[in-house]
Amino acid sequence: MTLHYQQDYQCVKCETFFLPFQSPVTVCPECGEPNLQPEEFREVVRLLVEANQTHRGLYGGFTPPAYGVFSLLDHYVYYSASIFDMYVERQTPRALIIEEVLANETPAWQELLRELLYQLFEQAERQGLFQQKHEETEPMEGAA
Ligand SMILES: [Zn+2]
Repeated sequence: MTLHYQQDYQCVKCETFFLPFQSPVTVCPECGEPNLQPEEFREVVRLLVEANQTHRGLYGGFTPPAYGVFSLLDHYVYYSASIFDMYVERQTPRALIIEEVLANETPAWQELLRELLYQLFEQAERQGLFQQKHEETEPMEGAA
């Protein structure tokens, strides 16, 4: 069972989808409009880390074998999972992974996502997400 969320969010001015993870405002990476954080996004970093923790406990990796994306938040569950998996597999510093992932984004998106990813890594570390070692990760195929 994978975890799914219903939170969606679009910029109040230009309707770009982005995650309003900063309190009290997150600046839209497309138009620069400061967006007030809606109540249902106050715990969004914690939610993302919890989803990853749950999925890793169930599947051995952060990325579930199959994961349907039904909302903006689901998109970020999947996004963060693939980055966490990369981090665990490669064992390189997180800054390198983050910069690699952000390489093709525009500067404004890089700024937003970099801050989000650093917060996610920090929270994940605090919750010990990268400590639980699996002796031999089982092959992840077969779910498609
Ligand atoms: Zn905007």
